[in-house]
Amino acid sequence: ISQPDQPAARPGEGQDLFSKFDDLIGQREALLESGLTDPFNLVMEKVLSPTQAVCNGRETILLGTYNYMGMTFDPEVVSAGQQALADFGSGTTGSRVLNGTYQGHRECEDALREFYAMDHAMVFSTGYQANLGIISTIAGKGDYVVLDIDSHASIWDGCAMGNAEVVPFKHNDIEAMEKRLKRIPEGAGKLVVLEGVYSMLGDVAPLKEMVKVAKDAGAMVLVDEAHSMGFIGKHGRGVCEAAGVIDDVDFIIGTFSKSVGTVGGFCVSNHPKFEIMRLVCRPYVFTASLPPSVVATAATSIRKLMHGADKRAHLWENSKTLHAGLKERGFTLGTDEPESAIIAVIMPDLERGAAMWEALLKEGLYVNLARPPATPANMTLLRCSLCAEHSSEQVETILGMFERAGKAVGII
Ligand code: PMP
Repeated sequence: ISQPDQPAARPGEGQDLFSKFDDLIGQREALLESGLTDPFNLVMEKVLSPTQAVCNGRETILLGTYNYMGMTFDPEVVSAGQQALADFGSGTTGSRVLNGTYQGHRECEDALREFYAMDHAMVFSTGYQANLGIISTIAGKGDYVVLDIDSHASIWDGCAMGNAEVVPFKHNDIEAMEKRLKRIPEGAGKLVVLEGVYSMLGDVAPLKEMVKVAKDAGAMVLVDEAHSMGFIGKHGRGVCEAAGVIDDVDFIIGTFSKSVGTVGGFCVSNHPKFEIMRLVCRPYVFTASLPPSVVATAATSIRKLMHGADKRAHLWENSKTLHAGLKERGFTLGTDEPESAIIAVIMPDLERGAAMWEALLKEGLYVNLARPPATPANMTLLRCSLCAEHSSEQVETILGMFERAGKAVGII
């Protein structure tokens, strides 16, 4: 593809393939030249607990991790990992379908089956690969994927890899979804892909209605519960559970990198033919399996999350307190009410967003600075994600930090 604003390459001299990033490089340089700390290059010098780390030599409260249930320092989780490291070594050096299935991978899949009360569970090396693998394998050329326009990158990439027809609809719009489904040719394969919680604004999908519409249209349904597993629903199974539609959903995708507190991804399903995926799903077959220590920590964490009702209740309290406190102080938030553990504070523009991010860091608070293309509608967000291990005192401290930083930057 030629780039009209680039000088033509001279004969024998190739086009610099990096030139397509020049705008972004310029924008980034301009931001850093203004003297701001690079928001995308922060180092956690020491991690003290799920809610505290040392950054730039300073003790910092973490309000921008996906450690929703605070499992990363759970003594049983850590010790399971240490034991597996000692017993099985540092890595499997192989694919799940060759030498890379250890006892621990099986136990991890057993824990998932039990957690979701489903027949099948398949563990991937990341959640990204779980979406990439499942979507690209079940929806191929000639099939249709109907998906929310704000879907995660791994969902879009799964659609592209599978070469399916992609039919996006307006975010969380049930009618728009129904209209798209009705336009799909009779007899074509249809997959509807939804998320439980959307990670940028922390809003929840109307799954009760959407799953019904999808099923009535004869579509299969996949729900990505990355940001709801462990927290939402009576047993922490996610928004599908809370909405009472878990039995109607064909595939749930999840990750170990959030509430579970390690790394890895998975798909659970009741489909009777599901196990064939282990042979045909390329992002499962053609990559090394997770290290034994990782699957051991994941399995232990998942089993503990089954009994996490008290933690879930405290996390809801934290989410409600932070949401109400920020609203009261005059910040504009991504949702009217707290819907998940994510609370997005909408910034007027990238410059003030970055300044606010830095002011908070200087106060001793880390949040995520999120910007397009990751965010919807070109928004710059300070994304706060709460942890069940944040104490009520920490949440009050956080509100004080927001108030001082917001006034200093002129946002409130
Ligand atoms: N799905 C969603 C909705 C996500 O937000 C993410 C990660 N942020 C993923 C999938 C990928 O998870 P992982 O970190 O395990 O690759």
